[in-house]
Amino acid sequence: IQWEKQVRNSAQIHRQGGMSVLVTGAAGFVGTHVSLALKKRGDGVVGLDNFNTYYDPSLKKARKSLVESHGVFVVEGDVNDARLLNKLFDVVAFTHVMHLAAQAGVRYAMENPGSYVHSNIAGLVTLLEACKSANPQPAIVWASSSSVYGLNEKVPFSESDQTDQPASLYAATKKAGEEITHTYNHIYGLSITGLRFFTVYGPWGRPDMAYFSFTRNILQGKPITIYRGKNRVDLARDFTYIDDIVKGCVGSLDTAGKSTGSGGKKRGPAPYRIFNLGNTSPVTVPTLVSILERHLKMKAKRNVVDMPGNGDVPFTHANISLARRELGYKPTTDLQTGLKKFVKWYLSYYGYHHGKAVN
Ligand code: NAD
Repeated sequence: IQWEKQVRNSAQIHRQGGMSVLVTGAAGFVGTHVSLALKKRGDGVVGLDNFNTYYDPSLKKARKSLVESHGVFVVEGDVNDARLLNKLFDVVAFTHVMHLAAQAGVRYAMENPGSYVHSNIAGLVTLLEACKSANPQPAIVWASSSSVYGLNEKVPFSESDQTDQPASLYAATKKAGEEITHTYNHIYGLSITGLRFFTVYGPWGRPDMAYFSFTRNILQGKPITIYRGKNRVDLARDFTYIDDIVKGCVGSLDTAGKSTGSGGKKRGPAPYRIFNLGNTSPVTVPTLVSILERHLKMKAKRNVVDMPGNGDVPFTHANISLARRELGYKPTTDLQTGLKKFVKWYLSYYGYHHGKAVN
C-alpha cells in the first residue's frame, strides 16, 4: 500500500497537458537527467532500475537520491519482471514510457553476453508486452544507439543508411531492438520512437566510458590507454553533451503521438520513428585527452595501442537533419564546454580540491 502510494504520488502531473512517464534505467546516467528534466517541468515520473553492478552501484544510489530529492520515486526492479511491470501499469495509467534500461558497453559483452540478452532483448520484449496489455497503451521512446551503424564507412550516418554490420554484441542487440519494436508497432499499434544516441557524456556520467576513466586516471597519475585504428588513424567520436540528449528525449516524448491499440488500423497507424541524436562534430580521442588535460591542469601518461578488435568502431558521425526537422533538436554544447562542466562535477563529486582528493 505504501509502495502504491509512492508510485501514485510520483506519477502525479503538475502542469496542463502534462504526461505521466515510466522511466526505465532511471538510476542510470541518461535516465537521471531525463527524469529530472521531466519532473522539473511538471510531468509525472516514476523510475525503474535494477541497480546492476556493471559499474559502481554507489554512483547509481547517489543518482537515485538526487532524483528522489526532486520527487521522483525509483522502483528497484527489473524490466524483465512482467509481474512488476503489470502491477505498475495497474497502479498508474502511464501515457509514455521512456525506456533507457539496458546493458551498455561494447567490451563487457565478451565476458558477459547473457546480460545483453537478458536486458536488451528479453527485457525489451517483456516491457513491450506489458505496454501492449496496458490500458491506455503508452507511447514508447527508447534508446537505440549509434553503434547500429557499425562498420558503415559512409559519413555522416543517416537514419536510412544500412545497419547490417554491427561490430559488437551490444550493437547487435540494439539493432535487434529496432526490429522488435518495429514489429510491435506494426502488429499491435504501439507508438514507437527509437533514438540512436551518439557517445553521451556529462556530469553523473558512466565510469566505464573513456572520458570518465581518463579523468580518473589523469588525476591519480595513472597511465591511460588510447586505442588507435587501422593505419595508425585516430579513433573519433561524435561526443554529445547530456543536456542536448535530454532535449532530444523530451522532444521525442512531446511529439510521440498515441498508441492506437491492437489492430490499430481503424484509428490510423501509430507512428514508428527512428532519430539520430548526435552532435555532428566528431572529435578524435587524442583531442579529447588534450581538452581534459587543459581542464584538469595535469598531463596524461599516454599509452597508445592498436585497437584490439573487441567491438569498437573507428569513428561515428551523426547526420541530425531528421531530428532537427521533426523534434526541433539542436545541440548547443561543444566538447570543450561540456567537458568543463563534467570535470567540475567530477572534482566536486569525488571531493577533489585544487587537484587533490580531500577525502
Ligand atoms: P547506464 O548504464 O548508466 O543506465 C542504464 C540503467 O539501466 C542502469 O542504471 C542499470 O542499472 C539499469 N538497468 C540495466 N539493465 C536493467 C534491467 N534489466 N532492468 C532494470 N534496469 C536495468 O547507461 P546510460 O549511458 O544512461 O544509457 C542509457 C541508454 O542509452 C541505454 O539503453 C544505452 O544503451 C543507451 N545509449 C547510451 C549511450 C551513451 O553514450 N551513454 C550511447 C548510445 C546508447
